Amino acid sequence: MKPNLKSHYALLLGLDKNWKVESVELNLEGGKVSVRMKHVAKRLVCPCCGAAVGRADFAPERTWRHLDTMQFETELRARVPRGKCGQCGVKTVEVPWAGKNSPFTWLFEDFALEVLKAASSVKAAGELLGLSWNATQRIMKRGVDRGMERRDLSGVRRVGIDEKSFLRGQSYISCLCDLDDPKIIEVVKGRKKEDAEALLDTLPEEIRGEIEAVAMDMWPAFVSAVEEKLPGAEIVFDRFHVSSHMGEAVDAVRRDEHRKLMENKDERLKGSRYNWLRREENIKEEKREEFEGLKNSGLKTARAWAIKELLIEFWECRNEGFGEDFFKRWYAWAIRSRLEPVRKVAKMLKKHLDGLLAFFRHRITNAASEGFNSKIQSIKAAARGFRNYEHYRTRILFYCGNLDLRPDIGH
Ligand SMILES: [Zn+2]
Repeated sequence: MKPNLKSHYALLLGLDKNWKVESVELNLEGGKVSVRMKHVAKRLVCPCCGAAVGRADFAPERTWRHLDTMQFETELRARVPRGKCGQCGVKTVEVPWAGKNSPFTWLFEDFALEVLKAASSVKAAGELLGLSWNATQRIMKRGVDRGMERRDLSGVRRVGIDEKSFLRGQSYISCLCDLDDPKIIEVVKGRKKEDAEALLDTLPEEIRGEIEAVAMDMWPAFVSAVEEKLPGAEIVFDRFHVSSHMGEAVDAVRRDEHRKLMENKDERLKGSRYNWLRREENIKEEKREEFEGLKNSGLKTARAWAIKELLIEFWECRNEGFGEDFFKRWYAWAIRSRLEPVRKVAKMLKKHLDGLLAFFRHRITNAASEGFNSKIQSIKAAARGFRNYEHYRTRILFYCGNLDLRPDIGH
């Protein structure tokens, strides 16, 4: 090969003077380019202690997958020298183009991470890159490990804890979210108290002491875990969870009432389920009139719905004092409603009133955490059938962790 092609590759690879390109072999049938490198310096740096050491020998030849040259799959080949260190013994030195034990160059890994971000699944990314599923998964994992290692959580003050289903509702993960700079900090398996504690323990201790507020559902396991692990933080019950409890109460009233009406062939509530759960402005145009009639029908479901709707105004109160007054009036109405599911939720809310009123001091909700739900759903869908929790976690952190995944290129 001509010398200018070799220097071209040396330039592309960003080689320092310790390495030179010995040969570039083009295999036309195989569609492959092999770039053979040679280490030319006498002195080495010990990878363990950083001392300047002499060369002992060369390790057997290794291969690294590199970015394609045109459409030719490109690999680097080299025998990496071993240094003889007085302190550490004989050690293989690091190469400037790849990480320790990685079969890919930094540039290839960097490119593979971009492909992973854009692809719909690890399988799809692997097919585009010409890599096995395992190799692709490892690139993702190494990126997440790098990102976790270098991330800085020192600014985290307000977080959300939330449960999400894993494997079609049979099991759960608990998820810690940074609410100010939306990202998922960590996930753990399960939603019991010890799971939530393990989740909070992933925050460094000095950061746990700085957390001011935690948004969550009225879930006793999460409440006691936060009291234990974040004693300085205030619990704020999340408005979307409150709404969803009220929505379930309305639905329970509707189911019961619909069954009784149907005994008398009264079909008024048939097919109305989602209209009672939606915000009124989201009801379809053609259903509006019918719903208007139902709302004023004097049905129990309509009463439950009105109580649910009124509670939305709680969150719009100007301050804690107004909020407390509002709640008292709302509670009195809910308790007098003679609708058991509604009374049950009202009692639960009253028991947790402190954490509801804390909203007016911190103004946080789990919306940021909920915002990752569709992303997590699509991860689940793309990962259909796989049961490995660690891979699931890696994926969530890869896509939702806002991590700096990239390799350090060029040092
Ligand atoms: Zn050493």
